[in-house]
Amino acid sequence: MSKQVRVRFAPSPTGPLHMGGVRTALYNFLFARRHGGKMILRIEDTDSQRFVPGAEEYILESLKWCGIEIDEGVGVGGPHAPYRQSERREIYLKYAKQLVDADWAYYAFDTAAELDTLRKEAEAKGETFAYNYAVREKLPTSLSLSKEEVEERIARGDQWVIRFKMPENEVVEMDDLIRGHVKVNTSTLDDKVLYKSADALPTYHLANIVDDHLMEISHVIRGEEWLPSLPLHYLLYKAFGWEDTKPQFAHLPLLLKPTGGGKLSKRDGDKMGFPVFPLFWKSPATGETAHGYREDGYFPEAFVNMLALLGWNPGTEQEIFSMQELIDSFSLDRVSKAGARFQPDKAKWFNAQYMHHKSDEELAALFQPILKANGVETSDELAGKAAGIMKERASFITDLWDLTSYFFVAPTQYDEKQTKKYWKGENPARLAELREVLASIDDFSLENTEKVVGEWIAQKEYGMGQIMNTLRLALVGAGKGPGMYDVTAFLGKEECLTRIDYVLANLKPVE
Ligand code: GLU
Repeated sequence: MSKQVRVRFAPSPTGPLHMGGVRTALYNFLFARRHGGKMILRIEDTDSQRFVPGAEEYILESLKWCGIEIDEGVGVGGPHAPYRQSERREIYLKYAKQLVDADWAYYAFDTAAELDTLRKEAEAKGETFAYNYAVREKLPTSLSLSKEEVEERIARGDQWVIRFKMPENEVVEMDDLIRGHVKVNTSTLDDKVLYKSADALPTYHLANIVDDHLMEISHVIRGEEWLPSLPLHYLLYKAFGWEDTKPQFAHLPLLLKPTGGGKLSKRDGDKMGFPVFPLFWKSPATGETAHGYREDGYFPEAFVNMLALLGWNPGTEQEIFSMQELIDSFSLDRVSKAGARFQPDKAKWFNAQYMHHKSDEELAALFQPILKANGVETSDELAGKAAGIMKERASFITDLWDLTSYFFVAPTQYDEKQTKKYWKGENPARLAELREVLASIDDFSLENTEKVVGEWIAQKEYGMGQIMNTLRLALVGAGKGPGMYDVTAFLGKEECLTRIDYVLANLKPVE
């Protein structure tokens, strides 16, 4: 790669960042890191009507949560600051005018009402209205008006826009790193607005090209929805005379619904109970809320790992990747053209894998707040130990309370089914005998307790299943939990005896 790799993630703060947007940011980041380049965060907030308060903060927090680091940009600064387009507004008009002077663009003074009339006329003829070579000279534009009229209208404060003068019937040939060579005839395209006097702001197309150029972006990696804009962007580079330094482009495949067809939407998530956003979001305008992976208990590493494989594959069977491994193996060649179907079960599976690989110390830190919320004060050691014993059965940290609560809270209620099955016949009396055996053990380690109790059962010729299930009822209160000796070792001798005494004194045997 000849020039220095400089990529940018350029979201618009129009709401919470969709997981597809996070994936775009992630691929940019991986590409930058892989090639020793820079990752830039530019906020594209020139559409003042769609601006949503809090969205920029949400974007920054989401990237941080995912471990996607920004080298230059909003929140970090850098040599091309400012990186928020609304703070760069003085820059763009000059460029828009440059295009008008070079006859690549023109002023248009038409009103919404005039356009509406033309639109209706076209519809009446069964056509779709396009603002292009066929109409631009029939409307009040700098192409149809005299120079003096144009100047007069501007001077008296008429509202105007600058539109790109899309050539008629030319073929634009483009190269995309994922899609290959693409050709488009310009007659299928319209004259996009580049700049609006009403708010003295450029539109996305102009600001995006000007900034990518000024910020020396080498690769534009973005969602497939921008592919239709690529011919215009190519022509803008040509019009500005920047063709030689224009970036390379890569358009990423869509994230598809779990059922296949169509783009993954918030509605799919709501219907099927999975988040489509990285973090919880509450709309400041409507109060509407949306689930987030973070609040739903996903680990950022699992979320990132899952996202990385939605549209990219390493060419091997490997599925679990740390961020560093992703950096080491990522390449745009292995990004697919086809949309990537999102599978909520797979997201859970990834989380479970990360859960199973967490150390007791890591689990303790994550589990302690849940224990506290349930009124349990315990050491990190015990919190981690309980979590460690049960982690294989959990997909989320939040699963741990149900799986381990009996380690911390002695049962006073007993599962009905288990009680009916085991709290009868000789079992209560044998539990009383077992109590004495346990009371006599000094080394209460898992191995020793198992050995002593095992020998006692064998010597007495008792049924192992009956004894163990009765003990489980006493210590756990239900038919769940890990191996019985994991429980005895965790609880320790005193607590085991207390729980056995409690059940013997309080639970009436079944007739
Ligand atoms: N602001 C655009 C967006 O929100 C950026 C598209 C691009 O990367 O060029 O998706």
